[in-house]
Amino acid sequence: MRLTELKLPLDHSESDLHNTILKRLGIAADELVGYSIFRRSHDARKPSAIVFIYTLDVEVKNEKALLARLRGDRHVGPTPDTAYHFVAKAPQVPPMPRPIVIGTGPCGLFAGLILAQMGFRPIILERGKAVRERTQDTWGLWRKGQLNPESNVQFGEGGAGTFSDGKLYSQIKDPAYRGRKVLTEFVKAGAPPEILYVAKPHIGTFKLVTMVENMRAGIESLGGEIRFGSRVEDIDIEHGQVRGLRLAGGEYLAATHIVLAVGHSARDTFAMLHARGVHIEAKPFSIGVRIEHPQSLIDRARFGKNAGNPLLGAADYKLVHHCNNGRSAYSFCMCPGGTVVAATSEPGRVVTNGMSQYSRNERNANSALVVGVTPADYPGGQGDNSDPLAGIAFQRHWESLAFEAGGGNYNAPAQRVGDFLAGRPSTTLGSVVPSYTPGVQPTDLARCLPDYVVAALRESLPAFGREIAGFAMDDALLTGVETRTSSPIRITRDDEFQSLNTRGLFPAGEGAGYAGGILSAAVDGIKVAEAVALSLTAQKTS
Ligand SMILES: Cc1cc2nc3c(=O)[nH]c(=O)nc-3n(C[C@H](O)[C@H](O)[C@H](O)COP(=O)(O)OP(=O)(O)OC[C@H]3O[C@@H](n4cnc5c(N)ncnc54)[C@H](O)[C@@H]3O)c2cc1C
Repeated sequence: MRLTELKLPLDHSESDLHNTILKRLGIAADELVGYSIFRRSHDARKPSAIVFIYTLDVEVKNEKALLARLRGDRHVGPTPDTAYHFVAKAPQVPPMPRPIVIGTGPCGLFAGLILAQMGFRPIILERGKAVRERTQDTWGLWRKGQLNPESNVQFGEGGAGTFSDGKLYSQIKDPAYRGRKVLTEFVKAGAPPEILYVAKPHIGTFKLVTMVENMRAGIESLGGEIRFGSRVEDIDIEHGQVRGLRLAGGEYLAATHIVLAVGHSARDTFAMLHARGVHIEAKPFSIGVRIEHPQSLIDRARFGKNAGNPLLGAADYKLVHHCNNGRSAYSFCMCPGGTVVAATSEPGRVVTNGMSQYSRNERNANSALVVGVTPADYPGGQGDNSDPLAGIAFQRHWESLAFEAGGGNYNAPAQRVGDFLAGRPSTTLGSVVPSYTPGVQPTDLARCLPDYVVAALRESLPAFGREIAGFAMDDALLTGVETRTSSPIRITRDDEFQSLNTRGLFPAGEGAGYAGGILSAAVDGIKVAEAVALSLTAQKTS
């Protein structure tokens, strides 16, 4: 049976929890067979009286009688079925045509895994390298300022989220338990089991690397095939139906079902799809900077005297401010106890992002502070001659200016908050030591951001300082630019998850504009795998 809303103080022990269950259900110790935690969150609105809130699955000796006795108690009831159910199974004879998945980010990996688990033996193509080799290349940029445009933070096995904080929260509703399926598969692949029940789960970079390898092995053991160094360079479309694709080396692969899970940085692939006539629309996204503070400042503001309690871990925050110029500025992808990372995939450009290890015990907290932009904000975004890819040109413009402002060597431009608010360039840094590598260049960030973004950030920082004491302190550090918050395009799909004008092409995940994080991209991958399976089996029976 499920028991919800069980509240205990921060410093409770396991036996306190056990005794509270007995008391809450009004049963003796020998009637309780066992329990497991389904969800655990904490309420820190009053930092001096933080409480943990549990949802538990409890096994008791005579459940029927107890449920009858507690009828009318809205926090007690039968445990719902939260298992994920497959929508189809591939018939073994005759064999089905193999679907192709492009990309091994969370979306492509889960599309591939679910297709493999249903028996469809997918072929998965990835332009970058296997995750361990990819890690070397990524560190090449971070340590030596050497970028490999095909193997970096954005491209390679595991996709964009591999070198990340691995936050797994999302606002999506989950009636079919696809999100739970994702978390369960992650745990099978080596994620800490607590991700199944803590309210804000996260994994951290090192664990993600091993998990991605384990998931690859799982897909291969089910007959799937993963090919690295396989950049899809062209799609073959005939009379509005995909027929196959061509790899960069020239190899042609025939396919009637292609999942396009290429992420938001596959700009060359978007250009190719546009040239082939695939329907693409421009969509809003956000740009801005990363901000760094000492993690201890955030912990104190959030947890008061309980700051540093290991049960609470490093504190996070979520901030939003509606500005006088009609824009909204907000915090995004906050990484407690983490580092700011160089996240460009293109030469001559600087892009920031953030990551953490599982322990989240680095000195600084970092978060993006970004401002929404729409196609009306950039040349070619709107009007009769609008170009659906104009948002990419806009991103590139600011990324190139950031490269120049950083000194042209992949160092990032940086500025103290005090200087940014006063409108003067920084010439030195203060007490907050930047975590971005290869390095930062103190300068004026207004050089590489649109005026309205600068104005919105200048108005928002003091407002955020009223929510978190010290947030707008002079020495807090801004690093830029943060341009890849989400995809600037949508490859629109129909009710069957296929491109509006290209049958057999299943746009998916963040790059197609249908996800905005690891969990939502993975869930979208599952949805699309289901659509592919239903389409393939319908073709077989018709
Ligand atoms: C540094 C960093 C930290 C992040 N932190 C978090 C976090 O903590 N929590 C969170 O929820 N989200 C985080 N994100 C965002 C998250 O990673 C993405 O939302 C997610 O990875 C999107 O998944 P996806 O599968 O749609 O695309 P991606 O993960 O981008 O994967 C796309 C894959 O397709 C491949 N590809 C592209 N073009 C081609 C082609 N033509 N042929 C073959 N392969 C191709 C790419 O190499 C890539 O591996 C972070 C992102 C970054 C960069």
